Amino acid sequence: MRPLDATELLNAWEHGLNQPILQRALILILTACPELDSEAAENMSIGARDARLLRLREWIFGTRLLNTAQCPQCGERVEWEGRTRDLRIQTVDDADLAEDFTLEVDNYRLHFRLPTSKDIAAVMAVAQSDGNTGAMALVKRCVVSADQAGDACNLADLPQHALDALSQQIEKLDPQAEIRTALTCPACSHQWEVLFDIAGFLWTEINNWAERTLRSVNLLASAYGWTEREILSLSPVRRQLYQGMVNR
Ligand SMILES: [Zn+2]
Repeated sequence: MRPLDATELLNAWEHGLNQPILQRALILILTACPELDSEAAENMSIGARDARLLRLREWIFGTRLLNTAQCPQCGERVEWEGRTRDLRIQTVDDADLAEDFTLEVDNYRLHFRLPTSKDIAAVMAVAQSDGNTGAMALVKRCVVSADQAGDACNLADLPQHALDALSQQIEKLDPQAEIRTALTCPACSHQWEVLFDIAGFLWTEINNWAERTLRSVNLLASAYGWTEREILSLSPVRRQLYQGMVNR
């Protein structure tokens, strides 16, 4: 994995413009991780994916992030500031990719893998309305094989408690898949936890950055006659200083 320069980031952004968010996340990861092929990226667990997106976010925009949430009690819009290191639970480790696991519950033995972007896309396509059904469908997709006291067992025959245990085990093995942060409302002191979606958050930041960058290219190209490539190869600091001189 490596940092992206301005041209690579703009290309990734353009490529992802008309894509769903899962695809955008994969485009960013494939651009930053040329050592992975698209199959490896698609089969990456959500936690492994999000650990990479957090690292990429640090490289592009730094470690400090500002976000907003709405207080569920009084409706106040709450701004919260976080650090990427406080949100990072998993490290980026290519050895983690495409691993299979085993879980034993009573006399059931389940072979399973961790949920991937593909699983989420498939589950979202069928179970948009019901979050609980969606979560259970996701868990079921992760079962590779199951047996009961040594005899092969159908997915449909697995008892709910075995699936619940599997769901908990998946959470434990892929902790980065759900990033939570605790907030306190400044207006009513209500305390609650919000889920932080690094894929959506980072894409919004990249989108804003791309629009600013293209405006800057337009301004500097008009003023100095430089090409897009020349302008993008300037450091952000120089680009901004020249832009300030043109605007003056
Ligand atoms: Zn409140």
